[in-house]
Amino acid sequence: MTTAHPPIDLRSDTVTRPTPAMRAAMAAAPVGDDQYGEDALTNELQARVAALLGKEQGLWLPSGTMANQVALRVLTRPGDEVVVSREAHAGWHETGGSAANSGVQLVEIGARGVFDAAALDAAIKPRGLPVYPPTTLVEIENTHNRSGGIVFPQDEVVRVCALARSRGLATFLDGARLWNASVASGSAEGELAAPFDLVAVSFSKGLGAPGGSLLAGSRDLIAAATRQRRMLGGAMRQTGFFAAAALHGIDHHRARLADDHANARRFAEALAAHPAVDLDLATVQTNIVVFRLRAGAIDAATLVLRSRERGVLVNAFDARTVRAVTHLDVSRTQVELAGAALLELLG
Ligand SMILES: *Cc1c(COP(=O)(O)O)cnc(C)c1O
Repeated sequence: MTTAHPPIDLRSDTVTRPTPAMRAAMAAAPVGDDQYGEDALTNELQARVAALLGKEQGLWLPSGTMANQVALRVLTRPGDEVVVSREAHAGWHETGGSAANSGVQLVEIGARGVFDAAALDAAIKPRGLPVYPPTTLVEIENTHNRSGGIVFPQDEVVRVCALARSRGLATFLDGARLWNASVASGSAEGELAAPFDLVAVSFSKGLGAPGGSLLAGSRDLIAAATRQRRMLGGAMRQTGFFAAAALHGIDHHRARLADDHANARRFAEALAAHPAVDLDLATVQTNIVVFRLRAGAIDAATLVLRSRERGVLVNAFDARTVRAVTHLDVSRTQVELAGAALLELLG
C-alpha cells in the first residue's frame, strides 16, 4: 500500500493503541492476584466505576462480550425470552453466545436501535400459559452500535424499565459506549444507568484502553456475576495493568469524546451530500457513522477495498452498508482526508 499518508483507521474505536501516558500508567501499576482480591487498581476501578454508575458493586471483565454473556447468565434461565433492540450486539456480534451460554432466545423490537414501552408491552409473552416461554429480561443498548451510535432517549429508558419492573422483568444496559451517550446527552453516566439492575461499560472503545469492561449492580447480582465470570474462564490474575489503563482513560479520555462526535458529524455531513449515499444525519449522534450505498453506486465491499488502497479503513456491514467510527487515534484532519478519499471513490 503506497499512500500519501499513514493509514487512517475508521473501522472501529477499538483499534486505538495506548498513549505514552497510558502505557506509563500501565508500566507503573502495582499489581496483585485479582482472584485473591489483591489487585489494588482493579479494586479501585471497580469501586470507582460502580460509584460513577450509582451501583453497589462493580466487577472487571476481560471484554464487553463477556460482560453481556455474564449478565444474561445472571439474569435469565435457559428457555427464557429476552427482549432486545433490533440488531443488538448480543444477537449479532457475539457469535450465538446468548443461545449457547444462556440458552435464551432473543426477540428484537423497535427500529434503529430504540423502542418504546408500548413495544415492550406488546412483546412480553402472557404469563400463566404453559406454551409460552417466560419473558424475563429486557436489554437496552446505549449507544446503539449497528444503528450508528444512536443515544437511547432517557425518558423512554425510564418508561421501559418501569414497565419491565411492574411486569417482573429484569433490566440490563449494554453500555459499552455509555461514555459517549453521556457526553452526547449531557446526562451523567449514573443517571443513564439508574433505571437498570445491571449495567455493562467498556474501557476498550472510546476511552482507548487495550481491554477490559465492567459490570455494575447490586451486591447479590455482582456475587452471581463473579461466579459466572469464573465459570466462563474470564477470571484473571494481575489485571491491574488493564485497570491502570482504564483509570487513565476515565480520567483523561472521557471529555474528549466530544471531539470524536464532532469529527463523525463533519465526516457524515460531507458524505450525506453525495447522491450515492443514503445517510440520515439524525442518526449521527456520537462517534459512529453508518451509511448505505444506493443501488447503482459502488458496493460496500468494493468501497472498502478501494479505500484501503488509499489508506482509509472502514467496515462493510452488508453488501450496501458501511460503518466508520471516529476515535482517539484519528485527528480532525485525518477524518477530513478520509471523507475526501471516500467521496472521490464514489465519483
Ligand atoms: C463492542 C461492543 C460490545 C463488546 O465488545 P468486546 O469487543 O467484546 O469488548 C458490547 N456491546 C456493544 C454495543 C459494543 O459495541
